[in-house]
Amino acid sequence: MSCHIAAPVHKCQVADAVSRRRNSVCHAGQNEAALREIPRPPQRARNDNQGNGVRPLSVFVALLALGLAFFAQAGARAYGHMPLQTRATRLHLFPEQTKSGQAQRPGLTAERYEIDVSFQPEKGFLRARAEVTLRVVEALPPQSNPSLDAIEFELNPHLKILEITDAQGHKLGFDRSGRLGSPKVSVRLAEPIKRAGTQTSGALAKLTFTYEGVLPPQPLDYITKDGILLRDESRWYPAVDLSAFTETQITITVPSNWNAVTSGQPQGSTSAGPAAIYRWRTSRAVSSRAIVAFPAQGPCGPAFREVSPLPPLPYDVSACFPPEQAKSGDRLAIEIAALLRTYSNLEGPYPHSTLTIVKGFPNQGGAVGYSAPGFLVVSEDVVKFHDYPGYAPEFLPHEIAHQWFPIEVTLAREEDGWLAESLAEYLAWRYLRERDPARARRMVAQAMRDALAPEPLPPLSLGLRLFALEGESVTHATLYQRGMLVFRTLETVIDRERVDRVLREYYQRYAGKAASIADFRRLCEEISGRNLRWFFDYFIEGTRIPQMVIRRTRSAAPNEVSGEIILRNVPPEFNVRVEMRLETAGGPVEHSVATRGEVTPFTATAPQPVTRITLDPDQRILRWTEAAERNRRQRALLAGIGKLEQAGQFSRAAQICTQALALDPENLASNEQQIRFELGRLLYRGERFTAAFPEFERVLALGSLDPMASDLQRAWSRVFRARIESRRGHAAAARAEAQAGLAIKSPAVQTRVSWPDAPARESSAAEELRALAGQAAH
Ligand SMILES: [Zn+2]
Repeated sequence: MSCHIAAPVHKCQVADAVSRRRNSVCHAGQNEAALREIPRPPQRARNDNQGNGVRPLSVFVALLALGLAFFAQAGARAYGHMPLQTRATRLHLFPEQTKSGQAQRPGLTAERYEIDVSFQPEKGFLRARAEVTLRVVEALPPQSNPSLDAIEFELNPHLKILEITDAQGHKLGFDRSGRLGSPKVSVRLAEPIKRAGTQTSGALAKLTFTYEGVLPPQPLDYITKDGILLRDESRWYPAVDLSAFTETQITITVPSNWNAVTSGQPQGSTSAGPAAIYRWRTSRAVSSRAIVAFPAQGPCGPAFREVSPLPPLPYDVSACFPPEQAKSGDRLAIEIAALLRTYSNLEGPYPHSTLTIVKGFPNQGGAVGYSAPGFLVVSEDVVKFHDYPGYAPEFLPHEIAHQWFPIEVTLAREEDGWLAESLAEYLAWRYLRERDPARARRMVAQAMRDALAPEPLPPLSLGLRLFALEGESVTHATLYQRGMLVFRTLETVIDRERVDRVLREYYQRYAGKAASIADFRRLCEEISGRNLRWFFDYFIEGTRIPQMVIRRTRSAAPNEVSGEIILRNVPPEFNVRVEMRLETAGGPVEHSVATRGEVTPFTATAPQPVTRITLDPDQRILRWTEAAERNRRQRALLAGIGKLEQAGQFSRAAQICTQALALDPENLASNEQQIRFELGRLLYRGERFTAAFPEFERVLALGSLDPMASDLQRAWSRVFRARIESRRGHAAAARAEAQAGLAIKSPAVQTRVSWPDAPARESSAAEELRALAGQAAH
């Protein structure tokens, strides 16, 4: 039976990506920081992608962040989100294009789909009949061909078109693109769509495609015996615009013990011998035709109506997990209900009657997610580690935010990606700020440091194109982290209450449509009554980052402080509200100053003499900080140690680690744990055990901004300490180290990684520790 829930489901669409559209996947966790290059763990997903040009796993990825390795582990990488879309695009699918099919010249859009699809999961095979109703939405340009005699679609090139017919039953000719891997299909109409006078707007065409084929599995789009997920980006149906809002009716045939979910409401299911047939229909236009199916071990549930206090939720949350995960699935559903409530208050009501959460991405480790209208697909680790403190805290808040942006308000262009990924990240921060302020602060501290790590900084205006142009680490640092900080900075320009009004109005005005950054800017200007061109030019189009310092001047009275706030790298119109904390013997006094241009004088008084002033204590303004600058210097220094290690120059590499530590003696950038771990590992490889041992001791006592990365380094420090003891012949001590490591109860202990000494060998700290504990015992 189905996941019935009554209602619809969705995907993670997120957006990330690229798609304007649509969808993204979201992997979690990312952190990036790459102080050095560490080989990444083989992606398990590789198995899913053979032959498709996915990068070999053994690629060295720069990461400071072991954390990255952590999340990434399996494959799809774990980044915070993977742009799904993008990723898929980038990995191979259709190299030539970026995102979804664009509406074509004389604007054509899909208005309705009726799709009947059946799957043979073990063969990766689908067969479908898709009827698409198109509408001309713009007048033809005067000089163009006055009639439309061919329509260009996109359909996955692995799918063989058996037939295309029009509404009158004429068989239509078509041409597939000659370019390898191109999804383009040009369909020649039997009767051109004619202009009526000068307008064609409103003219309709209805075409029916019959097609079939085997889709090679990708990390985010797959048909396998363990499950099916086809995002819009897979182009599993003929599309002119992947994120068009359409009314949709989809009938999905899967093996009899399977369940299938898509957007809309379930219309019931029937069984037909070895098959089960699920019918879904939308009651309003939605921006996706993604579908997910999975071997079911029982119905989905529970349907929450009342999660915590009144008033009852106007929608259901349903989870489709196997019985052994039912409990954590329930807790996940409760959190999702809380998120839907929070965002409904912030943006406007959740637009569907149900949110269904489905476990997908079989055999992929790390936090991976995909949001679609009314449903969310997550990887197993998301369910398994949901309750573990510090495990990808922004993952669910980010994914659920996508239900509003960009699923309900889609992106006009890929370049408008700030309104999808950055906004989801900002909303996730807002949610965490209420629920778990310590995590929210850590999220900001990490972003303030890592957002400024890429060299050079790319402009945010690249939007989802970043996924294709840059690696994950730069994309995450830019579109997610820096983009989120720009939303926070906007709060200091028009204030938070107005940002909230803008977001509500933006949603109300554009729900069911595509919107651009220009639309968003107009709304900010409308609500604040100010010209904000400088803000968008500077933070979205530009790549300069302000530097802010305070210059004290002599005060007239003992309890008065005066001086100037100096902002460098800013235009004359630059204008933010800067908070300052005045420390006094009687406690801190808060003050704020609206700056204008580069130099703003201020005077403030406190009840007692001011001993110290901290500017922008909550880091509300995106700007250079000492932590960001030191991080950047450390990364620059450490960038080459991967090569030194490969060349066997362990002492030289270790020396560079020591120099990097000296760049930040106060550990303001919070990289000390990771650098010491690398140092210990390099010393170990150089067989300098006496020097390595205490470095690992320090790693155990240190932490970082990413709790999972910290745990990973601690657990592996135990592995190295146990190995050292073992090589010294201290069997009991080795065993004690191994057992101390096994006592670390963190998902990081289970994370499979590989190290530069054996890039092809992937293992977890737990496996190594168990072996060391056993071996020492004999
Ligand atoms: Zn996302």
